[in-house]
Amino acid sequence: MPLTIADAPSPNFDERNGAPIDILVLHYTGMETGEASMTRMRDPEAKVAAHYFVDEDGAISQLVPEEKRAWHAGVGCWKGERDVNARSIGIEIQNGGHDFGLPDFAEPQIVAVIALCKEILKRHPIPASHVIGHSDLAPARKQDPGEKFPWARLAEEGIGLWPGEQGVTGGLLGLGDEGEMVAEYQMDLATYGYCPPGHGEFDGETADLTRAFQRHFYPQAVTGAADAETRARLKTLLTLSLTA
Ligand SMILES: [Zn+2]
Repeated sequence: MPLTIADAPSPNFDERNGAPIDILVLHYTGMETGEASMTRMRDPEAKVAAHYFVDEDGAISQLVPEEKRAWHAGVGCWKGERDVNARSIGIEIQNGGHDFGLPDFAEPQIVAVIALCKEILKRHPIPASHVIGHSDLAPARKQDPGEKFPWARLAEEGIGLWPGEQGVTGGLLGLGDEGEMVAEYQMDLATYGYCPPGHGEFDGETADLTRAFQRHFYPQAVTGAADAETRARLKTLLTLSLTA
């Protein structure tokens, strides 16, 4: 059954200039209502838009054609690519986010997001480890789509990866720690796709990266410190990304 997608053109895009489409970025809008989000993404002054918008009731709108470069990612990086807009498709999901008490995502909305992602993944060769949240590519600036987003459920549907519970404890790495274990952890983050890698010191940037990782893959523990479970989940993801 083809998806019903309303046309709602936005002027906030330009050209990909030949860049391949191989990243899928999920966002929450962080605005109180779907109407406010849509108004902003169609306002030429705002200079922001995703390709798609999914409202709380599951209604999907297309703002920018997939072949164009929509302005949703901003400054950031994934797998060494700094122009994420050029290579990605962006989906904005209506949700007030952290500024509005981090409400649950609505069920019909998640069903629609899953259906839309499946269609996009059929059209484009996007590796599973390139299905990311905005916070994954911009850990210092962004928190969306947030720790309530059901990444595990999407992975069950073949959208992105999920490490599962590793059941390990101990070995906490946090701010100020340095040495080989920190360097290895940073290397693992970088290998998975997070940028930049860091150099053996658990600095503020590493804490931001860790929080972004945990929002996505260990939402019960968004602490910014890398315990053994966090590091084990990362190792598992590295293995999964090689075989996916
Ligand atoms: Zn975002």
